[in-house]
Amino acid sequence: MDKKKCKKIVYPKGRYGAFHPYGCSRNAVKAGYCKQHHPDSVVARIKKSKERYEIKYKNSASGRLEKARKRIKELEKEIARLKTRRHDKEGYENHNPLSEMQRTIGG
Ligand SMILES: [Zn+2]
Repeated sequence: MDKKKCKKIVYPKGRYGAFHPYGCSRNAVKAGYCKQHHPDSVVARIKKSKERYEIKYKNSASGRLEKARKRIKELEKEIARLKTRRHDKEGYENHNPLSEMQRTIGG
């Protein structure tokens, strides 16, 4: 008896690959699929390539730009917060001596 073949239909890469599908020639090892085409391996492969893509995206110009934009927003918020605080402090320091002087002059 022949060994069972993988039941996956493969489409060769290339322009007309989609018109020339063939059955995978590897022997089935799990649930009628070869090691390459078993759904578990396919899912794992997709996950891996997605991870690779994400790493690649993170290191790409647009990925870095997005990260930089986020950082800029955070910094702008921080600056605005610091400005408000400094303004309050200056207002407090500038206002008090002046009013004290006015009090002295007026007094
Ligand atoms: Zn296969």
